[in-house]
Amino acid sequence: MNVKVAVAGGGPAGMMLGFLLARAGVEVAVLEKHADFLRDFRGDTIHPSTLDLMWELGLLEAFLARPHSEITQFSGVVDDVEYPFVDLRHVPTHCKFLAFMPQWDFLNFLAEHARRYPAFHLLMQTEATSMLKDGGRVAGVRASTPQGEIDIRADLTVGADGRNSTLREAARMPVKDFGAPMDALWLRLPREPEDPGQVFGYIKNGKIFVMLLRDTYWQCAYIITKGSFKTLKARGLEEFRAGIAEQAPFVRDRVAALRSWDDVKLLLVQVDRLEKWYEDGLLFIGDAAHAMSPIGGVGINLAIQDAVAAANILYPDLAANRAPDLAAVQRRRTFPTVMTQGLQLFIQKAVISKFLQPAAAKKTGRGPLLLRAFKHFPLLRRIPARLIGVGFRPEHIHTPEAAKL
Ligand SMILES: Cc1cc2nc3c(=O)[nH]c(=O)nc-3n(C[C@H](O)[C@H](O)[C@H](O)COP(=O)(O)OP(=O)(O)OC[C@H]3O[C@@H](n4cnc5c(N)ncnc54)[C@H](O)[C@@H]3O)c2cc1C
Repeated sequence: MNVKVAVAGGGPAGMMLGFLLARAGVEVAVLEKHADFLRDFRGDTIHPSTLDLMWELGLLEAFLARPHSEITQFSGVVDDVEYPFVDLRHVPTHCKFLAFMPQWDFLNFLAEHARRYPAFHLLMQTEATSMLKDGGRVAGVRASTPQGEIDIRADLTVGADGRNSTLREAARMPVKDFGAPMDALWLRLPREPEDPGQVFGYIKNGKIFVMLLRDTYWQCAYIITKGSFKTLKARGLEEFRAGIAEQAPFVRDRVAALRSWDDVKLLLVQVDRLEKWYEDGLLFIGDAAHAMSPIGGVGINLAIQDAVAAANILYPDLAANRAPDLAAVQRRRTFPTVMTQGLQLFIQKAVISKFLQPAAAKKTGRGPLLLRAFKHFPLLRRIPARLIGVGFRPEHIHTPEAAKL
């Protein structure tokens, strides 16, 4: 197969880039190793800045017609006291809320709309295994499919294959690892009509429990000290269930829904960044270029913003058959990535690490200063709202639209 651009990875970054390039008439193949997008616990937050992109594409109405929930304010409960800390009602975007939509619905939505352009090729069950080389230059990817191996030759290859990127490994790109004090255990609990509304997190006795509202269930993350899952597992499921009930007592009657450890998925939190996001014929975006901490739930948003910036920068050269300026993509996206990761690292160190130590949490008997400030001065809640909802350097779509099928 010969295309202009081969994108390895059909996650938010790869699908958005594939969509935008195909929409502009650039022949693009997106390779996704799975047969569908149906995988749980991948992050489901669609931020106001991403919703603005949907508006720019003329797709906002169709997008919001899909099942989702909308959240305008979050709070945290520390030692049984509630602290509101995010208020999205004033963010300078079309939608003043954060939408929760299962990631597979979001990716299916992008795929459906991308398929309307003849230049878009989505290859499911196609796993990029190595790069094709032309002298020193990357000239496409080799991939495995149920029918056997295929070569996809391309002027540009994009690694959007996530935090454990095969291509970044194959290209031996140097990675800076910033570390994280925690891992996350993802699980689902049933939701009852009388449950409280959206409260973002419960913090007590050295434990952090995050609960995200879904139509019929809660998607929860139990935050643990890095590397402690084995010890926790050894203490048994009963103790784990009791720990959850202690954090959010209203789910006490439902923790039995966790029937075995198979219902609990471990996310090894990592924060890292490539020193260089490109080499000749090859570019990395999204988690493959920079794995984000789950703090703020901004990984999807950043991946999408990378894709928009890459499409804007690369399109004119690709359309004119010139070598695209890959360094320009890194230059454009370094500032928002460094700033966001910097903030996440600060919060990991100053807040998460402390909350994970029961003794430290008990020291003052009062909530942390910052949360108390958010509680007493509501205007301050607009700052995290802006950082989470819009982020640093939001991108806008500048690529044109070619004829549809
Ligand atoms: C458990 C969990 C919870 C999270 N929660 C949130 C959240 O609430 N909000 C948020 O914003 N972010 C969250 N994140 C982070 C977010 O999911 C990522 O930052 C975001 O999905 C990155 O997008 P991406 O397209 O760069 O990579 P990915 O989403 O990882 O997509 C990569 C895609 O490439 C495919 N792939 C991998 N290797 C190959 C290959 N060799 N060939 C072909 N295809 C390949 C994968 O199957 C996948 O579909 C969470 C992450 C996890 C793991």
